[in-house]
Order: sequence, then structure tokens, then C-alpha cells
Amino acid sequence: MVTATATLSTAPAPRSVSVLGATGSVGSSTLDLIGRTADRFRVVALTANTDAKGLAELAIRHGAEFAALGDPAGYGELKERLAGTSVVAAAGAEALIEAAARPADWIMAAISGAAGLRPTFEAVGQGTHIALANKECLVSAGQVFLDAVERSGATLLPVDSEHSAAYQVIGQSGADNIERITLTASGGPFRTWSHEDMAKARPEDALKHPNWSMGQKITIDSATLMNKGLELIEAYYLFPVTADQLDVVIHPQSIIHCFVEYADSSVLAQMSAPDMRTPIAYSLACPERMWAPTKRLNLTELGKLTFEEPDVTRFPALRIAREAMEAGCRETATLNAANEVAVQAFLDGRIGFTSICELVEAALESTNFDQGAPSELEDIVKLDESGRSLAYTLLPKFETA
Ligand code: NAD
Ligand code: MG
Repeated sequence: MVTATATLSTAPAPRSVSVLGATGSVGSSTLDLIGRTADRFRVVALTANTDAKGLAELAIRHGAEFAALGDPAGYGELKERLAGTSVVAAAGAEALIEAAARPADWIMAAISGAAGLRPTFEAVGQGTHIALANKECLVSAGQVFLDAVERSGATLLPVDSEHSAAYQVIGQSGADNIERITLTASGGPFRTWSHEDMAKARPEDALKHPNWSMGQKITIDSATLMNKGLELIEAYYLFPVTADQLDVVIHPQSIIHCFVEYADSSVLAQMSAPDMRTPIAYSLACPERMWAPTKRLNLTELGKLTFEEPDVTRFPALRIAREAMEAGCRETATLNAANEVAVQAFLDGRIGFTSICELVEAALESTNFDQGAPSELEDIVKLDESGRSLAYTLLPKFETA
């Protein structure tokens, strides 16, 4: 006879999960999925930067053990909001590291930008499953990041929709005999704009992404196409291809996320509505599938899917990122750092839209890259810091009156 106790003991134990960058766009989508099948997951740690209220609400709703804010100034408010609950509150850079170090079976790395470097490396050090949304970490740290993954035995699960698509294809058809990986790009809000009009574009124009709802930094990167440039570099490190086996095609509907072409001329692709919950669900359930509350594709309703060659004259970010990718990790770390400074300067109204790429290129051109390959996280942090300070030095040259 099967007793109630025996039945309970055969139920799979909930999977322990942490979300770094829990209050952001990817973090919220992740917790939306986790919250819908809460019995399958136990939430260990959640982090945010400054939003104490948002983080406390998420920590209480999901029964987290630990909630960490990056900004130490928010500690008092976080502690107060979590008073009377079992959630431990913490704040500051060390608190983010502690959140990433708390043992968990699966960790979503969704802090935006190079700010995610140290926590993501810490999470990787656990040797657990790392769902990688924080592409800037891989762009900055490249092989140093992959070496850390290999040392710890962590399993890296790409979350970026294009890379999740390639990962899904390669999981089925293998990594041998790939001839080409083509990432799709929506083209962003300025796909059809002239250079002159883009030069006058305001942050509110650039923040209107036609298909995806995302955080501010990646939305601006999607408007310059630097996002696709960063994704080329991300794909270069994630998949067994050389730089010249990677391509980008503009696909304004954002339905097909990536094409993988094999030696027999077969082109395999993954399709889904533009909603990050699909790739996040794959990273949570992989190699199985879980239900996601996302729009199902109706191909006759869509009517047609179109493709265009990217215009690297109007969107120089693709060329700049490709050159950095071909040059090496010092260049890609500097590209990323300068781009973060330039995007923030544009959002702050200090530089025009087209100056974002001009500033990034100027930073790359003014750097001496002759010091050999970086070998550890501290080298990457230094490269990031020097790229940023160089971009700040160059910034006044691009400032609008
Ligand atoms: P977001 O701006 O919406 O959220 C960022 C999260 O990181 C927030 O929780 C924020 O509090 C935290 N954060 C930001 N700066 C921090 C700092 N200095 N210290 C500690 N925490 C900090 O960003 P997002 O759109 O969710 O993107 C997150 C990452 O995922 C990025 O690397 C982005 O490129 C990548 N990504 C996002 C999407 C998307 O659809 N949003 C798609 C693919 C990849
Ligand atoms: Mg993407």
C-alpha cells in the first residue's frame, strides 16, 4: 500500500533557484514563471540595485531566504520592509556576492551591464546551472569567463533569445559540422530612419522598441544595433564557430531568433513570439520543456516573415563590435565599458544618439591593447574600469551644447 508519506517522499524536491537582477525585465519574467509553478521551486536569493520596495515585495511573494540590494543606502528601508518575515536583508557589493554564493541549483544572472561581473563569476564558482542573460559579462570577460565555467563545472544556459535558439538547435542536431550561425535582429525603432534623423533622436524615441519590452540599457543598444554586436561576441564565445561563421540578418517581426546552418545545407531555426519567458522557460526546464504563458504563434495571422541585410553605414555598431571580436578580449571589454558610458550619457541628454557609436569607436582607437590576454577576473575589472575612465575623458568632445 502506498502511504501518504511514501507518496510525498517520491515527489521531486523543489529546485533551489536564485535571481540576480530580480527587479529587472528578465528578473521579473523569471519570477513570473517561477511563481506559476511555485511548488517546483524554492527561492534562495534575490537581488536588485536601488529598489528596496520592489525587492522586498518580490522576496516576500516568493518566500526568498535572502534579499540583497547593491546600493548600501537602501539597507534601512529594505530591513524595515522585511521586518517580521524570515527573509534576511543585506546591502552593498558584498551582499550581492553573498546572494550569488548561496547554494542554489539554478541561478539567473540578469544584472544589467558589467555591474554583473563579480556576482556572475561568484555564481559560476558554485559549479551549478547558470542561466546567462547578462551578456555584457561574457563580452567583457570572454575566455576568462569560459575558463571559470570550466574550472567549476558549471552548466551555462544561454538566455538571450538568439543564443537560446541556437542552443536549442545544437542540443538536437549537435555541434559538429556547423557552417554558420545567423542571429536575427529586429532592426530597432530606427530601422528605416536616415542618419540625419537618428542624429536628432531623443531618448524617448530610442526607448520605443517595436517588439520587445526590456530594460533601458538593452533597449538603447537595440536602437544602435550594439546589442546585436554584443550578441555576435556572445555567440563567438558560446558556440563552436569562428568570427567569420557568424552573421546578422534584420528580421523585423522577431519571430525567428536564430538560424544554424549545417554542412549539408540544412538550416535549422527556433521560432516563438518575442517574449523572454520562452527562452527563460527553456533555461529552467532544459533538456525538458515546461509550460509558458506566452502567445502561441499563428503563422497565417503573421502572414509573412521578412529579412534584410543590416546597413552597417547607418548602424556602425555592428562593424565596431565585429572588429573588437576579431581583435580579442581587451578590445571587447573596452567596447563594452565605453558603450555603457555612452548609453548613459545619451539617456542623460549629454550626447546625441549617433555619438554613442562615435564615442565607443574613439575609446577603442585611443587604447593601447598590447599587454597580452587577460587571465583572471581582476584583469577584466581593471580593463572595464580603464575603458570607462577613458570614455569619460573623451565624452566632452561629443557633448551637445
Ligand atoms: P533591467 O535594467 O530591466 O534590469 C537590470 C537588473 O539589474 C535590475 O534588477 C537592477 O536592479 C539590477 N542592477 C542594475 N545595475 C545594478 C548594479 N550596479 N548593481 C546591482 N544590481 C544592478 O535589465 P534587463 O532588460 O532585465 O536586462 C538584464 C540583462 O539581461 C542585461 O545584461 C541584458 O543585456 C540581458 N538581456 C535582456 C533581455 C530583455 O528582454 N530584457 C533580453 C536578452 C538579454
Ligand atoms: Mg537578444
